Amino acid sequence: MKTTGKRAIVIGGSLGGLFSGIMLRSIGWEVDIYERSAHDLDSRGGGIVLQPDVVEAFQRVGIEAQALGVVAHERYYLNPDGSIAQPMPLRQTLTSWNLLYVSMRRHFPSEHYHCGKCLSDIQQVGEQVSAIFTDGTRDTADLLIGADGPNSTVRQHFLPDSHYRYAGYVAYRGLVNEAELEQEAAALFTERFVFYQFPSSHILQYVIPGEHESLKPGKRRFNWVWYVNYDETTELPRILTDKQGKRRDYSIPPGLLASTVEQEMRSYAETVLAPPFQKLVAATQEPFVQAILDMGVPQMAFERVALVGDAAFIPRPHTAASTAKAAANAIALADALVQHDHKVTKALKDWERPQLAYGKQLIAAGQRLGDRSQFSHGTNRFGEKANVL
Ligand SMILES: Cc1cc2nc3c(=O)[nH]c(=O)nc-3n(C[C@H](O)[C@H](O)[C@H](O)COP(=O)(O)OP(=O)(O)OC[C@H]3O[C@@H](n4cnc5c(N)ncnc54)[C@H](O)[C@@H]3O)c2cc1C
Repeated sequence: MKTTGKRAIVIGGSLGGLFSGIMLRSIGWEVDIYERSAHDLDSRGGGIVLQPDVVEAFQRVGIEAQALGVVAHERYYLNPDGSIAQPMPLRQTLTSWNLLYVSMRRHFPSEHYHCGKCLSDIQQVGEQVSAIFTDGTRDTADLLIGADGPNSTVRQHFLPDSHYRYAGYVAYRGLVNEAELEQEAAALFTERFVFYQFPSSHILQYVIPGEHESLKPGKRRFNWVWYVNYDETTELPRILTDKQGKRRDYSIPPGLLASTVEQEMRSYAETVLAPPFQKLVAATQEPFVQAILDMGVPQMAFERVALVGDAAFIPRPHTAASTAKAAANAIALADALVQHDHKVTKALKDWERPQLAYGKQLIAAGQRLGDRSQFSHGTNRFGEKANVL
């Protein structure tokens, strides 16, 4: 690939930042990624439905896209007793946050991926944009990409009034090694997308790559996500306070859920879930939780700065589209730059409109799906008054 002599700074080294980094390099840009976290991001992510935009990004940059996940051939919807209410043929590939992250990290030169660098300010002067970091250093380039997630510093700089809102429910999540689940439940869940829906809640599971991204049967993981309603003022603060007493913004990672919260979740599971899901939750060693958020911005391009991924739009997870959207943002940005002969401001202007429309469409679809599942019997838990459980 011919180099263009152009350079980009990417803020945030998670999936959104890496998609942008690999796509821009593929069109001849030099890229430096700056990630706040001092180490490589933890291998803690759960499952991700593999969508065509992710495969396209990988194919365009030459990352092997043959074995990116575990194939499920059908969907099951369960009855309350655990029997199968409705089988449905549907082929999907399920992958993991880790597999995507590791694949892109290997492809992106490590000397251009900088850990422990936290953006504090941005300055645009003439044809240049500068990132200023909390350690006092700065970097200057032709383009800056804000891939810094839900609490984006880049977004706060340009759109101080755009914040995420809590959607009224959380996702408890967990991973179980294939070998650690009782046989009957394992047989039901293996290579299937399985759902159990009941008033004001639903839980789902699918199999994802295991440790070291293994796709070998027996070495993979069952991945589950359970949506549970909590009141924002009277309940959520307790759920989002970790076992060390620290109040977190919107998620608690594995191993840090407060024991009272974990215990409460486990006893809900025994009371309300279909038996195979009870076994799955019981076999989970370190469940984690994230609040479901709604967020969308009115603008994604600011002269030489672009907002991508969760920094711009956070669709609810029912769309299974967050990661694919980050890939789509990056692919379209690379295409727009090529089309405009790498003239940044023109390219960003053209890039912005369809990306905004796509983000808005995902937000609306996610809200429809989530509200129907969680709130059509009211906003309390499990269609009951919250205080009965
Ligand atoms: C550890 C982890 C696990 C995840 N697991 C899943 C999963 O299992 N399933 C799923 O669908 N999605 C998961 N996600 C979210 C998923 O990655 C995103 O929805 C999607 O990939 C787009 O996210 P993003 O890269 O835009 O934002 P994020 O993934 O939120 O990444 C933003 C990055 O920016 C960094 N950052 C923030 N502020 C600054 C700053 N001021 N300066 C420098 N860096 C900064 C953060 O440390 C973070 O690494 C996970 C994210 C993380 C970080």
